[in-house]
Amino acid sequence: MRSHLLNETTADLYRRSVTEGVDRVAAKLATTERPHTGISVDELAPVIASIDLDTPLADTAAALDELEGVYLRDAVYFHHPRYLGHLNCPVVIPAVVGEAVLSAVNSSLDTWDQSIGGTLIERRLIEWTARRIGLGEGADGIFTSGGSQSNFHALLLARDEACRIVMKRSLDRGVELTKAELLPKLRIFTSEASHFSVQKSAAMLGLGYEAVISVPVDRNRRMDTSVLALELENLAAEGLFPMAVVATAGTTDFGSIDPLPEIARLASEHSAWMHVDAAYGCGLLVSPTRRHLLDGIEHADSVTVDYHKSFFQPVSSSAMLVRDRDTLKHATYHADYLNPRRMAEERIPNQVDKSIQTTRRFDALKLWMTLRVMGADGLGSLFDEVIDLAAAGYEVIEADPRFEVVVRPQISTLVFRYVPTEGEYRADLLDEAQLHARKALFASGEAVVAGTKVDGRQYLKFTLLNPQTTTSDIAAVLDLLAAHAEQFLGESLAVHR
Ligand SMILES: *Cc1c(COP(=O)(O)O)cnc(C)c1O
Repeated sequence: MRSHLLNETTADLYRRSVTEGVDRVAAKLATTERPHTGISVDELAPVIASIDLDTPLADTAAALDELEGVYLRDAVYFHHPRYLGHLNCPVVIPAVVGEAVLSAVNSSLDTWDQSIGGTLIERRLIEWTARRIGLGEGADGIFTSGGSQSNFHALLLARDEACRIVMKRSLDRGVELTKAELLPKLRIFTSEASHFSVQKSAAMLGLGYEAVISVPVDRNRRMDTSVLALELENLAAEGLFPMAVVATAGTTDFGSIDPLPEIARLASEHSAWMHVDAAYGCGLLVSPTRRHLLDGIEHADSVTVDYHKSFFQPVSSSAMLVRDRDTLKHATYHADYLNPRRMAEERIPNQVDKSIQTTRRFDALKLWMTLRVMGADGLGSLFDEVIDLAAAGYEVIEADPRFEVVVRPQISTLVFRYVPTEGEYRADLLDEAQLHARKALFASGEAVVAGTKVDGRQYLKFTLLNPQTTTSDIAAVLDLLAAHAEQFLGESLAVHR
């Protein structure tokens, strides 16, 4: 069994085995004609259940043969131009090379003594990202597992900063306020179109879902800052405190970017932490032509970026950046066995001091390889291409009488719905037609689209992150969706007749 350990005696097996795996994936990429086969859970579950995990196969080749039938054949391939579902990007090759290196070397970025070099590379990339955002000289941050964790981490810091400041202010007036008394009084403001991880974070932070005040959005699905201003004004009268304002730079559904400069002004006026969730919109940081769409982000106290969305990186690759590195201390704990205080005094760079994880992947290497091979402009121009595609796709849907589209996209999503060109249908039946069209399309494997609700009604969604997708793909998928929706409505009429 020792022959399976990766070490100086097994270099050949390592090279052969990894190459075999790479060959299978390469063959798959070359032959996928659809995003996936359309297999159902009921068909696939018994195949996986039947595998005897206590009886291994002869070798890697045999395991890869088996993997074909349990995974590779039916997986969803995000590189396919008709995968228009969620915020999954096709990945760039330098990042995949980085992934192979980082898992083989297997550094763990919690402490310097497990990650020599890796820690410094991660720090350079955090510095690079913070500079692109414009956070200033005091900035810092950390790689995380994803946008949800980044948002949670940022709000943890925001909560503890709010407690520190409010408790101190209170004490200055001679009133002692405990954290337990204060927590139920903290409020987080975010738009109706923001990501649900804001609500989840509030719950995990002991504030409850009720702590989140949803601010309405305007026609373009951007936070309505006049309402935010009023809500902030009213808070003090209720004896409550504004812990944070979470702005979204690229909402998951619409790609809309909240008015960042105005939100920054209001947050500052009310001494609230400003967090910008740029999980999706962060790609604009490298866009050669559209960086200005993020103007105002430089005022943030913290920012979430998901490189695994708009930087074409494999999952996971995300970061949370802060304006003031001192605030990271709210997640610091000195464990005697790992990162004793003494090490911090000796200025040994232990990233665990800043992270809510302990053992942590060297995800930064993927972005490093990407920047070293493609450069920032190269990466940004790929994101620009999908933004251009979305603009062209908007015109296609807008011109199609079978569909109505909600907003002209700021980034790269299109939210729309099928509307019959003739006949009157009940609203709930039309909602079902959208759901049916999405489901039937998924079951066919021909294309993948997403769905969402807008003002209570069911809609369909294209998330465009693949520069290979064309307007012909968009037109073809619209035809498929319309056919499924028409068939559904036709059948339901026949039933009701
Ligand atoms: C995707 C997304 C998140 C969550 O990020 P994960 O990496 O999926 O955890 C948070 N905010 C926004 C705006 C997103 O689009």
